[in-house]
Amino acid sequence: MLKPALYIAATPIGNLQDVTLRVRSVLQEVTMIAAEDTRHSQIFLQSIGAAGKKMLSCHNYNEAQRADLIAAEIEAGGSVALISDAGTPLISDPGYKLVHALSARGIDIVPLPGPCAAVTALCVSGLPTDKFMFYGFLPVKDQELNTALDAIKGSAATAVFYESPRRIAHTLALLAGKYPERQAVLCRELTKTFESVYRGSCAYLAALAQSDENISRGELVLLVGPEPKDQGADDAVPQPVQTALAAMIAGGMSVKGASRVLSDLTGIKSRALYQLALQLKEQGTDHS
Ligand code: SAM
Repeated sequence: MLKPALYIAATPIGNLQDVTLRVRSVLQEVTMIAAEDTRHSQIFLQSIGAAGKKMLSCHNYNEAQRADLIAAEIEAGGSVALISDAGTPLISDPGYKLVHALSARGIDIVPLPGPCAAVTALCVSGLPTDKFMFYGFLPVKDQELNTALDAIKGSAATAVFYESPRRIAHTLALLAGKYPERQAVLCRELTKTFESVYRGSCAYLAALAQSDENISRGELVLLVGPEPKDQGADDAVPQPVQTALAAMIAGGMSVKGASRVLSDLTGIKSRALYQLALQLKEQGTDHS
């Protein structure tokens, strides 16, 4: 028998086989399932032999009120699973208010991890995964959308957005205007029949969205890579290295030789050092 608790159960984002053994057995055993849309969830619940349970709808508009009913079920010794239409509950889906309210009442919250569109997309994107920012759904109104897209300017993290197929072409056009060269990836219909991953610069993807209407069909995750560092700029080279480079050039060493030696010693890209060395040499020539 399951311990009395609220179980946060991740469900497939397309392919019904993407359900963990633990999610399946917990959903078969709980005394109640709280679902975003109880009718929509029936297909999935039937596929894992967990249909016909006591169900309760729990969506953005009734979540706070549902907390009392769900807490009463658990405090009476029952066990409740929270599921959303697809993926991990609480991630751009209802559940935050419920978890907050129940944990404040001392009720155990048990995670049952599984699919999440944002993480699934990140893992196939080919963009850096060491730092990423999840922004959820992009705003609909243009002014707020612009502000949201401006927020990733200079960011060292990969940005992950959920976007609607109706708005993706417009969003890509705005992105292309702001960051034409920045790498982006659009993941469509992950784990489903028409799964596609489009990779390229923001400008390329914006142009593709104009010519290929398949891009704007189905469910989408949009990722934008980190802003590339300007390797050629002076400030990419730390001051002590700049001083050493200036001394080497002033001492008569060639631009190529000095930048190579310092690149080997410091690991700084030789292109950045070469450009800086050229500038130093020119400045030295001007002074003489
Ligand atoms: N909680 C879910 C999760 O864990 O990913 C997200 C729910 S949110 C209401 C739905 C959005 O997630 C979609 O509009 C789309 O942006 C993204 N999404 C969900 N399933 C997807 C899939 N199979 N492929 C691409 N994006 C998906």
